[in-house]
Amino acid sequence: MLSPPGAGKGTHGRWLTQQTGAIHISSGDLLRDEVASGSHLGQQLAGYTARGDLVPDDLIFSILMPAVIAAARETGGYVLDGFPRTMPQALRAAQLGAELDLTCDAVVYLTAPEDELVARLLDRGDRDGRDDDRLAVIRHRLAVFAGETAPLVDYYRSREILLELSTDRPEAEVRADLRAWFEARGLMRSADGKAPSRRLLSSPQQLSHSRPAEPQPG
Ligand code: AMP
Repeated sequence: MLSPPGAGKGTHGRWLTQQTGAIHISSGDLLRDEVASGSHLGQQLAGYTARGDLVPDDLIFSILMPAVIAAARETGGYVLDGFPRTMPQALRAAQLGAELDLTCDAVVYLTAPEDELVARLLDRGDRDGRDDDRLAVIRHRLAVFAGETAPLVDYYRSREILLELSTDRPEAEVRADLRAWFEARGLMRSADGKAPSRRLLSSPQQLSHSRPAEPQPG
């Protein structure tokens, strides 16, 4: 799920996991859990997330990779919500994917007008009390998206795995478009609850023969 904050990657990502049988992995949720744990790492992370800055790539990989490997072993697939967010992250993910025989089948790019994004995030801030859902931090997160993450749209479009959808319309319409696109690629669970006809990943067993996904130094 590749989208600006407030576009609906959490909502639609969770729905997609129900429909595909893949596990939902949100980099933001993993970071917030680590911050809430009060660990030394969590204290390091809190500064970045509270300001709306991106967390350094090495930290992201060390937090995300164990969850990705576990999801691949358990279900053979995952929906990554909020990762990658920079070109270096995307290129390193592609390299790790090649080493571990993991494929990326779809990149969902959700869009909505900026005023709508800001209104949704302010509303969520009122409801959930997320400390980065305040106006100044929201504006900064949108600027970070435009500068760091938006270039990934063209990168994935050129690889012909990008689905671009507006979420400035009823949720049912967005889901119908997601369903049609994923079904056409054999990525949806069938009505009887069976796993997708085409696995999101290669056989998870292959992972156990691969090198462990330690983040690269530097
Ligand atoms: P999210 O829940 O996706 O809106 O992410 C909340 C915050 O977590 C972001 O504003 C960043 O500070 C941090 N974050 C989440 N994912 C990443 C990532 N892939 N790379 C760097 N920072 C991230």
